[in-house]
Amino acid sequence: MPPEDAPLRTFDAVVVGAGFAGMYMLHRLRSLGCSAVVLEAGDGVGGTWYWNRYPGARCDSESYYYSYSFSDELQQEWEWSERYPRQPEILRYLDHVADRFDLRRDIRFGRRVTEAVLDDGDACWRLRTDTGERYSARFFITAVGCLSSANIPQIPGLETFGGRWFHTATWPHEGVDFTGQRVGVVGTGSTGIQAIPVIAQQAKHLTVFQRTPNYSIPARNGPMDPAFQREVKAGYAAIRRAQRESTNGHPFGIDPRPALSVPDDERERIYEEAWQRGGLRFRAAFADLLTSKEANDTASEFIRAKIRETVRDPGTAEKLVPYDHPFATKRPPIDTGYFETYNRDDVTLVDVRKSPIVEITASGVRTSSASYPLDCLVFATGFDALTGPLLAVDIRGEGGRSLRDAWSEGPRSYLGLQVSGFPNMFTITGPGSPSVLTNMPTSIEQHVEWISDCIGYMRDRGLVRIEATEDAERAWGAHVEEAAHRTLLPMASTSWYLGANVPGKPRVFLPYAGGFATYARRCAEIAAAGYDGFVLTPDR
Ligand code: NAP
Repeated sequence: MPPEDAPLRTFDAVVVGAGFAGMYMLHRLRSLGCSAVVLEAGDGVGGTWYWNRYPGARCDSESYYYSYSFSDELQQEWEWSERYPRQPEILRYLDHVADRFDLRRDIRFGRRVTEAVLDDGDACWRLRTDTGERYSARFFITAVGCLSSANIPQIPGLETFGGRWFHTATWPHEGVDFTGQRVGVVGTGSTGIQAIPVIAQQAKHLTVFQRTPNYSIPARNGPMDPAFQREVKAGYAAIRRAQRESTNGHPFGIDPRPALSVPDDERERIYEEAWQRGGLRFRAAFADLLTSKEANDTASEFIRAKIRETVRDPGTAEKLVPYDHPFATKRPPIDTGYFETYNRDDVTLVDVRKSPIVEITASGVRTSSASYPLDCLVFATGFDALTGPLLAVDIRGEGGRSLRDAWSEGPRSYLGLQVSGFPNMFTITGPGSPSVLTNMPTSIEQHVEWISDCIGYMRDRGLVRIEATEDAERAWGAHVEEAAHRTLLPMASTSWYLGANVPGKPRVFLPYAGGFATYARRCAEIAAAGYDGFVLTPDR
């Protein structure tokens, strides 16, 4: 059927994406009495956790708080099996949520939204999918994830490769058997650092192509202790409150002391304790690790010493020692046996900053100094973060202006929630919100609740159109920039936080670094002031 002739399905709201964000958005819209549909490219719910099935895929936040807080029944009934949940377990959890709240009947799977166009006369959006369907809704809500647009490097010759190649974010559902294979992994970010130790155990030989060495903290994963799980369940109210009042959406506080305020041996003891406890909490060892270079140097040096201690071959250890950015200015990975993996005889580390990859040939990878024969190649090369998934849809707002055009010099938004010129479109965890600097479910719940409260407010007052003003957007953009520069984060010049990992992408610090609690407070104040910085209009 030609797409123009496809019937127009009309709802109050269309949500794009059925991960953590889209599922909760649907639940909230229903509780407002809105008609809503979720359009999802995958064949199941889960978003990130549906697609990222690479070996070792696991959450770096701990299971008991990387979860929804909106339903106490849900958090009381669900049992996590490990300190950090593996991808299949998170997917089981999200499947359970979909069933428990009967979400599937309003989710259309297997269709990718290709186009969303504002019909300003009607203050509504018209969407098309790759299956030729057409949808219309007053509210267009993106729940497309921040890290869902794979970044596959443009390396000459990839199409000539005789083996199989994969990107970690679009992993085959049936898995990949690396037994007896010579495998190459490109990339040593959080994903590569999770996958490398697992692939090394199976492959005949693993070659890691590393461009930038990374700081990584041991995860110290293990089975969930039943007593701890009981304690968590009894204390969820306080845990969730701590998350909402935190900087990063985690339930632990940041030690208020500056790193240099304690004697050297005491500081070493604190780092050692944090290293032994493991996980992202290492970042919270002192208050100023992300604001003072001198403080950060002490943490960076501590980790460098650990790498040199762990990796037996001094030449390999030196290649693995990070040098070009302070600790945690790129998202710090956490690992299970990552540095130890380089002590294996069947693992080779190649420094592709020193000897760049020149081409991929039929038989493997050629760098400027050697050739590496391979049967399989894995790209753990990350994402076109935050803006990529939104710009993959042809979004056109007022006067037919495209989002791509509006963001040609980098994303602009008010609170990371709305873009001026794109009324009635909401972006869950959009650029300019804390998103990837936080524990994602915490940020997602705050955004979803703010958006649904806003839609309820509009409905109660007969308002049909909401649009961020250019002034509010400009002021917020300046604040996002200033918040980033109050930290050391912009010092990681190759970071995806800055868009630096994607050739040609404008260099703009993408997430809001002012802290989750501060941000959520600001959003609440804006709503309480009658949606300050937005123009709300009634039906003409
Ligand atoms: P990433 O952090 O962007 O890392 C990509 C890696 O690929 C980097 O080492 C990068 O080197 C390298 N690379 C990219 N293009 C290359 C090229 N052309 N040649 C050689 N090397 C190249 O991506 P990621 O590891 O997928 O992680 C992205 C984010 O996803 C994380 O920071 C985290 O927020 C999230 N994540 C979360 C979890 C979790 O919680 N379970 C797990 C994985 C990922 P350069 O550093 O030199 O650019």
